[in-house]
Amino acid sequence: MSDINGCLIFDIKKYAIHDGPGIRTTLFFKGCPLACIWCHNPEGIDPDQQLTYDSDRCIGCMECIDICPNRAISVTSHSVKSQAIITNPDICTCCTTCTDICPARAREPVGRNYSVESALRLIQEDLCFYENSGGGVTFSGGEPLMQSNALVELLKGCKDLEIHTAVDTTGFASWPVLEKVAQFADLFLFDLKFMDDEKHRRYTGVSNQLILSNLKKLAMLQTASQIGITEKNRVKTPEIIIRIPVIPGLNDDDANIEATGRFIASLGGGSVTDTCGNGTDSLAGDRDRDRDRDRDRDRDRSMTSFKVNSRIKEVHLLPYHNFQQSKYVKFGIDYKAQNILAPTQTQIRNIKHRLQTFGLNVVTHGQGDK
Ligand code: SF4
Ligand code: SF4
Ligand code: SF4
Repeated sequence: MSDINGCLIFDIKKYAIHDGPGIRTTLFFKGCPLACIWCHNPEGIDPDQQLTYDSDRCIGCMECIDICPNRAISVTSHSVKSQAIITNPDICTCCTTCTDICPARAREPVGRNYSVESALRLIQEDLCFYENSGGGVTFSGGEPLMQSNALVELLKGCKDLEIHTAVDTTGFASWPVLEKVAQFADLFLFDLKFMDDEKHRRYTGVSNQLILSNLKKLAMLQTASQIGITEKNRVKTPEIIIRIPVIPGLNDDDANIEATGRFIASLGGGSVTDTCGNGTDSLAGDRDRDRDRDRDRDRDRSMTSFKVNSRIKEVHLLPYHNFQQSKYVKFGIDYKAQNILAPTQTQIRNIKHRLQTFGLNVVTHGQGDK
């Protein structure tokens, strides 16, 4: 895994239109602390470089077996059938010798190291698209916060270049890491999967407590940092878009949608109530200290209401699909979500309407979780 000297990236998507506003370049960071059973990017979960093997492409030439310096590749039987070729991940060092010589491109490395400078150069290639569309760059994954040092350097570099930035995150990171990244990002695409902790653990491998607590803190960040700070010294803090992957049979039930809607609304994601002005007006002319203090507290609450409301811009629904199934075969991993069907338009519409009853601005996408 790269970090301070650069980042390990497993994919770069140009002209992306679902990863934030406008036309964007999306960089997918390798490594994710979750292991969602439906993951659309299983190649992003392992934090290290990996190899894939595509038996459909393999022509059984055996060149890879002979050339591997670590003797990591073998044939499982006396057959020369390509399907019998296996790689021992415990002794493979990902030197890429075999991928370079494979005539059929059946073996491919997953994950490439980029220095911060080279990643920034790549991002700048599409400056004109960002400028014309109001777009920018999105750091996704995997989980970009797992390579937070490099991420912060990239965000700073983009800020200097006046390129809009979005961080697509699971929210599963220590608060100091998230808080630091928040100083430089313009937008967070923050995933919410299950409100029930037991289900979250069962289907993603981790508890949701840290995620929910981080989202709460992130939503409050602007308010907390601004109270008592003058307009001139205000630090610009990022906007938030909540992203919900809709996985039928797992998280599309009424109880989860209801709990999700209520939670987001409690963070101020619902309809805006501008009470800030009232609080300010009521301060004028009051000379009693105790009453001033009470009123300050009320005013802060009012400001919180206004500012938090303005922070959570939208809630995006990302319908599950199973296009990723072939990736699991290449990695030799069991695909545990094979019986799950994509949600129908009616299911998505019903969820959207339910969330809208909490005053949320809900947008539906045609693609799944990152
Ligand atoms: S959080 Fe996203 S990248 Fe990580 S395992 Fe889940 S679906 Fe995959
Ligand atoms: S070099 Fe490529 S095509 Fe030849 S056996 Fe190895 S994987 Fe198959
Ligand atoms: S990447 Fe290198 S060590 Fe790994 S199987 Fe290929 S040749 Fe062997």
